[in-house]
Amino acid sequence: MRYAIFSDVHGNLDALEAVLDAIRGESVDCCACLGDVVGYGPQPRECLAAVRRHCTSIVAGNHDFAVADKLSDATFNALAREATAWTRKALPESDIAYLASLPLVGSVDGGGLVHGTPYAPELFDYVQTSYDAHLAMSRMDSAVCFIGHSHIPVNFVQAEIISYSLDPEVLVPREGRLIVNVGSVGQPRDRDPRACFVIYDSSEGRVSRKRVSYDIERVATKIREAGLPEALGARLRLGR
Ligand code: ZN
Repeated sequence: MRYAIFSDVHGNLDALEAVLDAIRGESVDCCACLGDVVGYGPQPRECLAAVRRHCTSIVAGNHDFAVADKLSDATFNALAREATAWTRKALPESDIAYLASLPLVGSVDGGGLVHGTPYAPELFDYVQTSYDAHLAMSRMDSAVCFIGHSHIPVNFVQAEIISYSLDPEVLVPREGRLIVNVGSVGQPRDRDPRACFVIYDSSEGRVSRKRVSYDIERVATKIREAGLPEALGARLRLGR
């Protein structure tokens, strides 16, 4: 099976449409989304509809749960809190209820899906160091797990030791574990402003990262016109 897996759309419909266009050229069997469909961006409702239309698996992100009042936004920075309040008002009750109903974990053929870490998905902790990856791998019941949350695309590979790589292509190890952060569609933070997603070929055990450009200025204008903080548009240009 061939899967397209993406995360952290964050209400950025232009980036999501560019990714969905690119996916159409990849002849995939299914799509999966690792959460944070909403929050920060100006089109949460449209993004949620498109993700629900295209993805067979969707797991909850911390922003999804914060908008649905299922998670406190007390740890969010001021920009994220403002965007959370804006998004809550922008969504109909039915969308809020749907976000609240999202599961914390999912799976594709031979792979786990979670927003933060498989170690304790409900905590929405980050996997950023080898130690974080070690904890996460101790709770994995499959060879590969796909995560989002940090918006930084990176691979953690367990062989003799756990190492990380930024390689755009990585193989699922025959023994050991692999954690792939699929990066972010709608708000990349690795200083590459292009939208990010991965293709997972489960029969080959191969994961390939893809980047696609989209019209960032269009989104920045929508952010301004929606009354969201302009800084949210500025960071898209920088990819951080
Ligand atoms: Zn996010």
